Amino acid sequence: MVFLAVGFETTAPATALLARQALALGLENLSLLVAHVRVVPAMAAILADPANQVQGFLAAGHVGAVMGLAELEALVAAQRVPVVVSGFEPLELMAGLVAGVRQLEAGRAVVGNAYGQVVRPAGNPAAQRQLAEEFAVVDQPWRGLGVLPGGGLALRGPYRRLDARERFGIPTMQGNRTAAADPCISGRSLRGLASPPDCPAFGVTCTPEHPLGARMVSSEGACAAYYRYRPPVDGASIRPSPRGTQGILASPS
Ligand code: SF4
Repeated sequence: MVFLAVGFETTAPATALLARQALALGLENLSLLVAHVRVVPAMAAILADPANQVQGFLAAGHVGAVMGLAELEALVAAQRVPVVVSGFEPLELMAGLVAGVRQLEAGRAVVGNAYGQVVRPAGNPAAQRQLAEEFAVVDQPWRGLGVLPGGGLALRGPYRRLDARERFGIPTMQGNRTAAADPCISGRSLRGLASPPDCPAFGVTCTPEHPLGARMVSSEGACAAYYRYRPPVDGASIRPSPRGTQGILASPS
């Protein structure tokens, strides 16, 4: 059995628990194909792009619940952009947006926590210890952003014997390199340079029922939200803003 372990720091602790239990029980028929990614390196890469139009972030509350605020505070100190941790319900998102916009209007850049009922400043130390024990931080290719330094997690130490890549000699996946092979514009969209409807695949070959990119998969993904709340189709497609998606950006999903 090969377990495909995907997700941000939110889901990685559960994978770590699985790996620990597998070793403790001496399971020989379980392998892990790990594709966990880290959010803050992606935020840093977006901000480092000279063409970037993103002025601030809504940071994902589920990641904050695990990792706390320290990584975000280091990012804000280095980049001087507002970051507000938010939940996913409509009122929670609105509270995060209001807090972020107020910072922009006041010319401030701090880490705000609009999800204090779930996210503590220190996060979940037990989960963080679990991650540090079983995973190493590694460079990781991100679709649309390239290889990000420290952008992912890989099994370390004795847990490497569970790694499906090593056990079965699985080569590193390169992904589609050409626009013809991969129409997904998530990289440009993440930088605020395009809106989901600018993508030629949006609503045509890429839908929530048949997603081509992560942002169409989950309900909080930008493409899925644009698709769900698109105006009624009367023969005309959605017209993207000529300025693209600017301002606050939700999590890189
Ligand atoms: S997730 Fe789908 S609609 Fe969104 S940018 Fe990628 S291919 Fe286009």
